Amino acid sequence: MKIETIAIHAGNHNDESSKAVIQPIVLSTTFVRDEDGSFPAGYIYSRSSNPNRTSLENVLAKLERGADAAAFSSGNAAGMTVFQTLAPGTHVICPDDMYHGLRNQLKTLFAGILEFDFIDVNDEAVLTSHIKPKTGLIWIETPSNPLLKITDIKKVVQIARGKNIKVVCDNTFATPIGQQPLALGADLVMHSSTKYFGGHSDLMGGALITPEKNEWWQKIRQVQEMGGAIPSPMDCYFLARSIKTLPYRIRGHVHNAQLLAEYLEKHPKIEKVMYPGLQSHPQHEIAKQQMLNFGGMLSFLVKAGADESKRVINKLKVFTQATSLGGVESLIEHRGSVEGPDTKTPQNLLRVSVGLEHIDDLIEDMEQALG
Ligand SMILES: *Cc1c(COP(=O)(O)O)cnc(C)c1O
Repeated sequence: MKIETIAIHAGNHNDESSKAVIQPIVLSTTFVRDEDGSFPAGYIYSRSSNPNRTSLENVLAKLERGADAAAFSSGNAAGMTVFQTLAPGTHVICPDDMYHGLRNQLKTLFAGILEFDFIDVNDEAVLTSHIKPKTGLIWIETPSNPLLKITDIKKVVQIARGKNIKVVCDNTFATPIGQQPLALGADLVMHSSTKYFGGHSDLMGGALITPEKNEWWQKIRQVQEMGGAIPSPMDCYFLARSIKTLPYRIRGHVHNAQLLAEYLEKHPKIEKVMYPGLQSHPQHEIAKQQMLNFGGMLSFLVKAGADESKRVINKLKVFTQATSLGGVESLIEHRGSVEGPDTKTPQNLLRVSVGLEHIDDLIEDMEQALG
């Protein structure tokens, strides 16, 4: 089935007892046993599984064309689960512009447990030279945050293949509507569901999707159940609800982002626009090959510098100054401030999550703020 149909039907089950078209929210933490002690519906206790979580996991697996999915209480909980399945001493290779929350997690919580290198994974020579006998995982994130760099997923998979190294792709920026890493050979996909899946800036969640139910996946399920970083039935319900419109929301985000990127690129006060859909993007060709669309995120550099970029933010009226992304409303942030003092992000960089307002209103707002 096509992705629009999957999004609407794979995460919904009609309720046989009430004949409700929309699946009810099952808040019960525990489930009735039969006389012989068995569990006829397969549910025992909600930390292990819950009907709303099962539905959410079903739609997530089908959207990414995977065999199974596991839902978590946040994107960072999903990332943490991956790292917790690794044997102590495993060497992990990460991008130098990895999502700062996960980079901090590794450096703070996994120091002394895992070994890690943060490198330019897009430079084949650099990547190859960092692979050691103990390397067990290469983490990639494409398009990256906030520089919108593109990693060639197939190439990284090729480098890892035959070396017993897993490739995990953080697909949060692209979503399965824009990119399908499992089809390109990745061993696992990770998401912050807080972003486009939720889509309305009102819930937190994370997800992992596997191409096969292998031994590693059993470990991931164990950490999910024993660690307990699971989303509530309410959050699962709202996520499955939001996902029904994901393909159409992404179309709107992509349409607006492309036009805003083209507008900004021509503006005399802008030094550079980073958007994979622009011809000027250094990896535009790779993006064209591996992406189904170029997404709704862009960053740009303001010529006059950091102070001027902050002034632009404050003059905007339709764009809201806030971190995060993927909601229906356009958000803008001075990324360097969000990432803190040790950031490598240029201080004149503004990151935009392009929302679903009318593009004319977004451009008009930018015009007055830049002017
Ligand atoms: C937000 C984000 C995360 C972390 O997800 P949370 O839901 O905030 O825990 C990870 N990766 C990327 C690319 C993100 O944007």
